[in-house]
Amino acid sequence: LNALVNIMTTLNLSRPHSPLTQPLEITEAEWEIAQYIRKYGPLSRNTLASFAGYSRAKVTSLVNTLLESGLLKEVGDGDSHGGRRPRLLNFNDALGYVAGVDIGATSLDIAVADLTGKVISTGSTAADVRHGPEHVLRSVTEGIQAMLAEREIASERLFGIGIGVPGPVEFSSGLLIAPPIMPGWEAFPIRDFMMMDFPNALVIVDNDVNVMALGELRAGAGREVENFLFIKIGTGIGCGIVCQSEIYRGSSGCAGDIGHICVDKQGPICHCGNQGCLEAMAAGPPIAKRAIAAAQNSESATLIRQMDASGGTLTAEDVGIAATHGDRASLEIIQDSGRMIGDVLAGLVNFFNPSLILIGGGVSKIGFQFLTAIRREVLNRSLPLSTQHLEIQYSAMTDVAGTTGAIHLALDHVFVISGGTWEVS
Ligand SMILES: [Zn+2]
Repeated sequence: LNALVNIMTTLNLSRPHSPLTQPLEITEAEWEIAQYIRKYGPLSRNTLASFAGYSRAKVTSLVNTLLESGLLKEVGDGDSHGGRRPRLLNFNDALGYVAGVDIGATSLDIAVADLTGKVISTGSTAADVRHGPEHVLRSVTEGIQAMLAEREIASERLFGIGIGVPGPVEFSSGLLIAPPIMPGWEAFPIRDFMMMDFPNALVIVDNDVNVMALGELRAGAGREVENFLFIKIGTGIGCGIVCQSEIYRGSSGCAGDIGHICVDKQGPICHCGNQGCLEAMAAGPPIAKRAIAAAQNSESATLIRQMDASGGTLTAEDVGIAATHGDRASLEIIQDSGRMIGDVLAGLVNFFNPSLILIGGGVSKIGFQFLTAIRREVLNRSLPLSTQHLEIQYSAMTDVAGTTGAIHLALDHVFVISGGTWEVS
């Protein structure tokens, strides 16, 4: 009975919110073959056999089934090691497509990719999440439809949609739970809404920072890294955790919400209601706020000039530019922010021992001094052993990490194992 309960629990956890059609149902062994090709690109039957530890005959039989079902195709010849050049196998790029959607607080980015993960179309538009889910998701649907139509692809051939949203997501249900900056999105059935227009698409929703971390894990600097953190610094501050090459979401999906770690009990009130949260003191808005105060107090001629030029306001990016040009007040603001973030990261490093920290999000574009301040604080405050093999870098894919991760979120789930113990229907 216990075993049955375990299976039921697993079923509930992995079962989508609504019944879904599954166009890509494959066996566990076929799934394994497909994952090697996904990770390493076109491979020969011999290479697949050595990766999977299967006999050449077994791989040939699996590959034949996958070729017959149209999931794989032969894509040319590999290098010969004596004898005939081996035929290489890859996903059939014309079989179906997935979409990756990155919903930001005020913008929307969409990319459509084939089953190899190759992006064939991208698009962006302004969209305010405060206008509510139906309004924003209608823009998403229209965007995807326009991109498919442009390439004469029928909506039925969209097999997966990965969506990153700027709020806490219960991953098993794909529902937002008490999102602070997304009024009206609480428990909105995003999957059902999207499936009205894309009946064959498996829809997977996750928090935006987890999705960015997944982008780095599957296609960026995190490809060969087992344990790393992705820190997004923008209007808020969040952390995607990659633990043993998988996204770690915690027991209810909100692991990595580091923006509300307290750095000063006497600090300003955060929108969460507590005092002195990291994001209330070190994210983009507090950087801008301090710079405006510095200009008003005549502490920086550069900031006063910039504030006049931009109609009485300043952004974190303005502060970064001023600091790069040697403005002392700006440099101090940036270093303070970097120090507070570095202080929290030092705690995470001692606790989690990652080998890489990637910093992304809008504020990561404010120049090298910010990164230097973060690095210095982490090195000063962490145990020597934990920083021995630690690298801290800006994310090179920061602008596309969201859509890339969303594409891979979809690709991670479109292949469903049939006949397994945890079949999802
Ligand atoms: Zn807070």
